[in-house]
Amino acid sequence: MIDIDRPSTWRKFSSDEACRSCNASCCTMPVEVTLSDLIRLNLVSEDEVQNLTVRKIAKRLVKEKWITSYREATGLFMLTQKANRDCIFLDSKTRLCTSYSTRPDVCRQFPAIGPRPGYCPLILKKVFGS
Ligand code: SF4
Repeated sequence: MIDIDRPSTWRKFSSDEACRSCNASCCTMPVEVTLSDLIRLNLVSEDEVQNLTVRKIAKRLVKEKWITSYREATGLFMLTQKANRDCIFLDSKTRLCTSYSTRPDVCRQFPAIGPRPGYCPLILKKVFGS
């Protein structure tokens, strides 16, 4: 049985086709993003980058609940997860990313990169009425 928190249980990723039937389990895992990702997501402006320190930008993003933390050592920001673990950008009904065209690089590269490269925690969507 697949357990999102145990990559040893994940299944080998075959193609994007599998994603259509998945409940977006990869979007319930912690996501660390870069400042460039945040700019592309329109959460940070070029002006801010020119005029503020990254720490100040991070402070605002934490206050607005877009991120939960910033690690100065890596320069990475942790995106906020909802109470049910969903990424803040995941639509809970459609199970699709609401910022797909501007999604972070790490999301674009998964599962080629991640806890177990080449594998993903595919969990099928529940089909109601069946
Ligand atoms: S940004 Fe989009 S693709 Fe990335 S984890 Fe969140 S919902 Fe999924």
